[in-house]
Formats: sequence, structure tokens, C-alpha cells
Amino acid sequence: MSSQAAIGVIGGSGFYSFLDDVTEVTVDTPYGEPSDSLFVGELGGRQVAFLPRHGRQHHLPPHRINYRANLWALRSAGVRQVLAPCAVGGLRPEYGPGTLLVPDQLVDRTKARAQTYFDGETLPDGSRPQVVHLTFADPYCPGGRAAALAAAHGQGWEAVDGGTLCVVEGPRFSTRAESRWHAAQGWSVVGMTGHPEAVLARELGLCYSSLTLVTDLDAGAEAGAGVSHAEVMRVFGENVGRLRDVLFDAVVRLPDVRECGCADSLAGLELGITLP
Ligand SMILES: [Zn+2]
Repeated sequence: MSSQAAIGVIGGSGFYSFLDDVTEVTVDTPYGEPSDSLFVGELGGRQVAFLPRHGRQHHLPPHRINYRANLWALRSAGVRQVLAPCAVGGLRPEYGPGTLLVPDQLVDRTKARAQTYFDGETLPDGSRPQVVHLTFADPYCPGGRAAALAAAHGQGWEAVDGGTLCVVEGPRFSTRAESRWHAAQGWSVVGMTGHPEAVLARELGLCYSSLTLVTDLDAGAEAGAGVSHAEVMRVFGENVGRLRDVLFDAVVRLPDVRECGCADSLAGLELGITLP
């Protein structure tokens, strides 16, 4: 079993525990430790590396995840295409629990996360990243989005094609005023982990697509007591099986050869560092 994988899934044991022959791979990075080991297995002839975003014990809250180490570790293992499922709140009444939405835009409302590899800090090997400003107008890979949507359709779970994922710092849920404001902007769903994953993937020339599972209506979109952690976990647990089916199908549908342009995000730029 190879420890290399071309495809990465940022998600935990609810996804990879169903594979035969999973190899645990520990990866060190210049940015510190990733959330956990990579768990590499085969799916439909493709090597896939799973990385539990919150750690296998789910001990890392969204604001303490080492996103830079996570994406770097995936690329180090050979990963070039990433599928990133995450739980979100629905900002519209029609996006109730159980909705699968594949966003095409994001809004970053996080506050205190390392957002770039190109911050001028010297790496342990002595190399020093240059200042780099990447194009990020369309944050998600069109090929990955198409694979996710086709997979959902194939599994009989019609996903919402497009929408804006608003990423907040957390770990608390939004107030009603914040939630109503997010909804009034026309944004679709709100989560805590979809960023800076997306931009860090872009900085490493990776394809990145987000699959958001609505676990609750956000505070401004419902009339009840507001979002609770227990409810989020319950709805996620109810849907993790079919989300896994969609992910596995999407993996098989990802192209062998990338023609989407994500790999060229750094073309012609002086980086100052060598990507793994
Ligand atoms: Zn791509």
C-alpha cells in the first residue's frame, strides 16, 4: 500500500473507516503539526488521503486548526485535488437540515487565522517566502464542484448548485442579528472551517471544492431557541452515511488529469519557497 495519494478528503473517521486497508501516515510540516495523521486508502482505483480536520478525537475547535499544516501535509503526500465536506447552518428557510449545497463563492469573516504561506517568515530550512498576491475571484475548483454535483445527483440527493459560504471565526454560533445580516447579504450558508482552507489550497496550486451539509437553520432563519451543538451533531450523524456515498462517488469522478487551471495559480510567480 502506497502512502501517496493524488486526492485528499478533509474529513474524519466517519468517512475512511469504511475502507479496507487504510495506511496511517504521519507528516511533519514547516508549519507545525497537522490535525492528525493522514489515512490513505484506495477508492475505485484512486489513492485517497483522509485528514480528520478536528483530529481523530475531535479535540480541535475550528479556530485552533492548523490549516496551513493540514494543506501542506496533503500536498506532501502527493495530493493535488481536495474535497472538503463541512457542516453549516442554512441562511434561508429553504436550506433546512439535510440540504447539501456545493458553494461557488465564499465570504471570509474569520478574524485570527494564518491565511497565507507567503507571510515573509523564514522556514526551518532557511528559505523565505516572497510576497505573493493570488487571484481568488473564484475560490473553488470547477472540476471538483462538477464531480460533487454529479455524484450527489447519482446518489439521488439533489445538491444546491452554487451559493455563498460565509465562514465565521466561532467557536460560538451567530447571534440573530449577525445571522440576519448574513442572510440579508444574499449569502447561503454559514460555517466555521471552510476558510482559510480554500485560499491555502489555492496557494499550493491544489484543486479545492467544498461540500456543505446543512445541519440546522441559522439563528436568523428560524424562530426557535437558536442553534445547539447537540442538534448539529445529531443531524450530521444522520447524514454522514449518504455524505460518504457522495464523497466516494465524487472521488471516482475527479479527472485523472487536471484541466481546470488550479495548478497554474502560482505560474510565473517568484515564491521563495519550494512547495512539497
Ligand atoms: Zn481544479
